[in-house]
Amino acid sequence: MTDSQSVLLSVKDLKRHFDVGKGKTLKAVDGLSFEIYKGETFGLVGESGCGKSTAGRTILGLYNKTDGDVVFEGQNVHDMNDKERHQFLKKMQMVFQDPYASLNPRSTVYEIIAEPMEIHNMYKSKKELRARVNELLEDVGLNRDHANRYPHEFSGGQRQRIGIARALALDPEFIIADEPISALDVSVQAQVVMLFQRLQREKGLTYLFIAHDLSMVKYLSDRIGVMYLGHLVELTTSDQLYGKPLHPYTEALLSAIPIPDPDIEESRERILLEGELPSPIDPPSGCVFRTRCPYAMAVCATQKPDWLEKDEGHFVACHLHDESLMKEVKEQAKPMHV
Ligand code: SF4
Repeated sequence: MTDSQSVLLSVKDLKRHFDVGKGKTLKAVDGLSFEIYKGETFGLVGESGCGKSTAGRTILGLYNKTDGDVVFEGQNVHDMNDKERHQFLKKMQMVFQDPYASLNPRSTVYEIIAEPMEIHNMYKSKKELRARVNELLEDVGLNRDHANRYPHEFSGGQRQRIGIARALALDPEFIIADEPISALDVSVQAQVVMLFQRLQREKGLTYLFIAHDLSMVKYLSDRIGVMYLGHLVELTTSDQLYGKPLHPYTEALLSAIPIPDPDIEESRERILLEGELPSPIDPPSGCVFRTRCPYAMAVCATQKPDWLEKDEGHFVACHLHDESLMKEVKEQAKPMHV
């Protein structure tokens, strides 16, 4: 962190478990810790079911936490009274994956965007409110003529723009974007990503951008956290993650991204992960990735890896990088890239 960076959001050992009956617990989020700096885009990536969306909802307070803390501008998100939460929701907003499901089909675009501002009594007259809705529509690349239409009259990309306009209505500082482009056509994804980037520049926004697709996250994110089965396994800058990944799971995710050059694409090595993501109800002992890790060793089944800072700001949870275990690692490690 440089002097110019200040922490906006701090997540400390956050856990969100769900009771699934018969004495079993689903550990969707199981000890997340990271900070997000003001003005940055923090990407949170991992396969479907790794807990990243649950993490986003718990950070916003849509889900109660099981343990840990989420601190936003010095305030604990899960300890707020109703009045504090009302104010907090002006500062932190969410954009959802499925823009159609998140927009009320019986409301006009005007009603959808105006609603949060009405709840917060932001404008005294209807005229001011209408002017603000028009301004927001233009901010997201739509126009005022769209205000009287209904969500079903729009394409997927346009609906996501409406969802973004609604999230911007209260002039937030921080937006959690939960897979906001996954449901869109590839041709539209880049446009929506560029919209997020422009809005960040113009409004000084901070983003937590949740995605399963590392390729788009690379263009957007300053730093990236990689999640696996409720845990962070690696965290660093976008450049470091792509240039020098340390965790075997990150390596596998990166190797799955197609490269536009057909010669490189054909000759490069892919790391195929065997098996499915294990159940968070019954996670593997030791390292949660060990059942699919090509380098798994005996120590990985008995000992949970520490969260190690290998270079400044580059964290990883893997025994292969633990100098205190070097003797065991050398004896037990399989050759790399077998
Ligand atoms: Fe693989 Fe072991 Fe590292 Fe886990 S700790 S990622 S199983 S080598």
